[in-house]
Amino acid sequence: MVPEEENDGLLDAERHQARHTIAPRAQLFPVAEKFVSVNGEGLAAGRPAAFIRFAGCNMWCTYCDTRWANHPLVEVEGWSVPELVRWVAEAGVSCVTLTGGEPLLQPYLPDLVQTLLAVDDPRPLRVEIETNGSRDLAPMAHLREACAEVGLPGELVFTVDWKTPTAGEAVSAAMMRENYDLLREGDAVKFVVGSEDDLAFAERCADEAGLWDRCQVLLSPVWGNIEPAAIVDYMLAHGLDRARLQLQMHKIIWPEAARGV
Ligand code: SF4
Repeated sequence: MVPEEENDGLLDAERHQARHTIAPRAQLFPVAEKFVSVNGEGLAAGRPAAFIRFAGCNMWCTYCDTRWANHPLVEVEGWSVPELVRWVAEAGVSCVTLTGGEPLLQPYLPDLVQTLLAVDDPRPLRVEIETNGSRDLAPMAHLREACAEVGLPGELVFTVDWKTPTAGEAVSAAMMRENYDLLREGDAVKFVVGSEDDLAFAERCADEAGLWDRCQVLLSPVWGNIEPAAIVDYMLAHGLDRARLQLQMHKIIWPEAARGV
């Protein structure tokens, strides 16, 4: 049963965050899982990456496949910035994906990102933040500029969801439109679509926000709701030649695995 407070698709971010800020020491991240795999989606899909999944989300999307990581009682490990950076170094990959849950709920995320962007041995890191679109991205966008200005070698990219009605009407209405103005060519907006109405919604939003000229636009199916071929048909019929169909690779490679891929 969906808890009463979650019925409208949105959780109170502060209350939810407080539940997860149970770290025994200061400045620890509540990590639900971390693993090394390949990026299943985003512009670096197919590249090996180190994943850090933070617990907790301020939303409740109908199709969420990481609901377990958002549960108030999920078991988390408290990891500090140095510990996480050391783990990434030992993973031996140059892509890092910070995901959730909702990573922008983490108050120390700027510290972690800045430290990861400073890594240059054996090579700089591509750090990707996957965010649900409802939290203010401006501080991270400013951090990206500041880190570039001082010459930190790493690259910070954003994949920002734009929730469609299939995610839930309240969830879809909670997008921070200003976030999309902060994106640039190496970033992406991801529309997870479950119907032709969602595709029309995505097309309209991308047009109105001028996404086509600013960043990449990804269309990803709600697994089991819409066939990828139907998305391709829509793209071709509507001239969406700059959109990209995206299939979640991990669901194809490891269809039974809910975690660690
Ligand atoms: S924003 Fe992402 S993690 Fe949060 S409920 Fe929606 S799909 Fe799940």
